[in-house]
Amino acid sequence: MEAILQLIQKVAKTHELSREQIINLLESVDEQVKQELFAAALKTKQRYFGDKVYLRALIEFSNYCRRDCLYCGLRRSNSRLVRYRLTPQEIRASCQEAYDLGYRSFVLQSGEDMWYSQEVLTELIRELKNGFPGAALTLSIGERTVREYASFFAAGADRFLLRHETASPLIYGKLHPGMNQAERKACLSSLGRIGYQAGVGFMVGLPGQTFGDLADDLLYLQEISPHMAGIGPFIPHPDTPLAQEQGGSVEMTLVVLALARLLLPDCLIPATTALGSLDPVGREKALKAGANVVMPSLTPVKLKQHYALYPGKICLEDEPGACKACMQKRIRESGFEPDFGRGDSPRWHQEPGTRSIRKRVSRGQSP
Ligand code: SAH
Repeated sequence: MEAILQLIQKVAKTHELSREQIINLLESVDEQVKQELFAAALKTKQRYFGDKVYLRALIEFSNYCRRDCLYCGLRRSNSRLVRYRLTPQEIRASCQEAYDLGYRSFVLQSGEDMWYSQEVLTELIRELKNGFPGAALTLSIGERTVREYASFFAAGADRFLLRHETASPLIYGKLHPGMNQAERKACLSSLGRIGYQAGVGFMVGLPGQTFGDLADDLLYLQEISPHMAGIGPFIPHPDTPLAQEQGGSVEMTLVVLALARLLLPDCLIPATTALGSLDPVGREKALKAGANVVMPSLTPVKLKQHYALYPGKICLEDEPGACKACMQKRIRESGFEPDFGRGDSPRWHQEPGTRSIRKRVSRGQSP
């Protein structure tokens, strides 16, 4: 036990662990280990970010998806899902609402919906960046061509979230029919080269996932050193082939999140909605275990219920104004300070120009 506690102190200083050490830690989790781990992760977060928690307005603009990921409620084979798609005008209206409430960071997320062509999205991004000065725009729309990624970046998109979902080639293959892990990783490399602040991430508690697999997820984060990393529990959806699986626990997700904080001290790590859906104070627990971002949904209330990645999603009735007040209160009561600014990665300003493609793709014109 002493050895494990020493290991936690060590990683808090060096931000490094071997695969074996991570597995060892995950195997040894008990109340004391959790407490030490969360305290060390919180301290690390505070050293890099103070008490700030960044809020991002999440707009889930389409639940159409060409993919068939076994875990996801939006998968194309799920014929029970009511599909919707916001028009560019409706997306602008949601952004306006967010902007008026003070949000300066928007995340546009969707299934892989090809109705949103390169032209349509590029034009929309340009309008949003012109219409909402000072706001950062994040895309989370899945896999596209390098050309499309470059066009969106040139139009002004700042960031891109594309979770790697799992580092295990075996599990990735089983859960993503017709997809390819190498291609997803290639997308992530392109995003980085183009110049986006890029986010990856994974689910905890996938069927067949071992501590070794989770160690590989954490080491993958360390290898690519993303600006953002989303870590959430897998929650089985009743209308998917994984309906009968057990899913991930809040506890294990928090432990893995805390380790991610210790290994990547300056990373933006959200307290995921999935955690809040499994536990009424799951997001607060995540903030106290090293997370520093919250992404409340500002999707129009009547449609929120249909963006059903997993069952039991929270805040389905909350209008944006009430949601803001609720999030502010929750963050303050957890001992932190809500921040509605852009919330860039602290590494961002230090490294402009170090990414080769960034120099070639200039803003405001097509590549
Ligand atoms: N189509 C986009 C956005 C995906 S939805 C893309 O491919 O990036 C956002 C995330 O929700 C996914 O990356 C996945 O990690 C998570 N997710 C999907 N189904 C889930 C489930 N059943 N439980 C928990 N998280 C899930």
